[in-house]
Amino acid sequence: MKALIYSSKGKIEFVEKENPRIINDDDAIIKVALSSICTSDLHIIEGCVPRAKKGVVLGHEFCGIVVDTGKNVKKIKKGDRVALNCESFCGKCFYCKKGYVNNCSFGGWLLGCTIDGAQAEYVRVPYIDYTSYKIPDNLSFKDVLFVGDILASGFWSAKLCEIDKNDTVALIGAGPVGLCAAQSLRYFKTRKIILIDTNKYRLDLAKKLNLADYTLNPLEVNIEDEILKLTNNKGADKVIEAAGGKNTFELSWKIARANAIVVICAMYEENQILPLPYMYGKNLTFKTGGVDATDCDKLIELISKNQLNTNFLITHEINFKDILKGYEIFKNKKDNCLKIAINYD
Ligand SMILES: [Zn+2]
Ligand SMILES: [Zn+2]
Repeated sequence: MKALIYSSKGKIEFVEKENPRIINDDDAIIKVALSSICTSDLHIIEGCVPRAKKGVVLGHEFCGIVVDTGKNVKKIKKGDRVALNCESFCGKCFYCKKGYVNNCSFGGWLLGCTIDGAQAEYVRVPYIDYTSYKIPDNLSFKDVLFVGDILASGFWSAKLCEIDKNDTVALIGAGPVGLCAAQSLRYFKTRKIILIDTNKYRLDLAKKLNLADYTLNPLEVNIEDEILKLTNNKGADKVIEAAGGKNTFELSWKIARANAIVVICAMYEENQILPLPYMYGKNLTFKTGGVDATDCDKLIELISKNQLNTNFLITHEINFKDILKGYEIFKNKKDNCLKIAINYD
């Protein structure tokens, strides 16, 4: 089969590779129907994910058809159309039982990082009974492409905000995860969403899709001042930081009101400073980290009922054989690229 591998820092290659086979009894082999490129793939290529294995097939955002299953697999069978979780988790360890699947003692982010991922024609997925979700007949592969990664991340971030109906949420970052978070905030009936980004196209799109009540561009206005104006001089009740920029962490706690919840789902390339003496008495709650993607079944149900819809994120569609071109487009946000759907026809 054909596959895209991470060969060394800064270098990816489109190669011929042997098809994956079942290794463990709870594995399945999936014929990939659609996959996507994620910012995390770029982080690996840039060398920012030290545990990523050289030679690994990239890709962890995908859906497809089951073509083979290990002998312990119960939930799915050959021929099923499934959406997949970006995380692999055993479902049985201390962390899994608590729902903290990102820290599964035997899993976490494996696919496309430490084991071969989904930017290939076929992929072996471990713990398939826990990490796959049947796609209802009324939904297409496109409809569910983002369920197991960016939509899960956006939804999780919104959920961590513990939204009250009177809340004003400041959301930093109008990238794919940020926009998924905005849609999820709407689902949780957030009163006011203030979306902050330097990318005018993305802000305008969010406004057009009613994913934000206000949009603020730091290149045009002073964000701290504007947030105060929009919140009766209080600051935001909740903040989601989904940008991971140079000063966006600092911005996130500065625009939060006292006793706010600040959710940090962004991934940084550098250490960030938490100036505790300066913020003493502000009594903030920080929630940080990578998604515990445990709501995928629910997300599919919400998509099925048209309460969530991420199809607008697919700005580009390409064939798998052109995936290197896809990386160029995605990395450079060419033609206002948000997400690319890679098909295998
Ligand atoms: Zn990802
Ligand atoms: Zn586990």
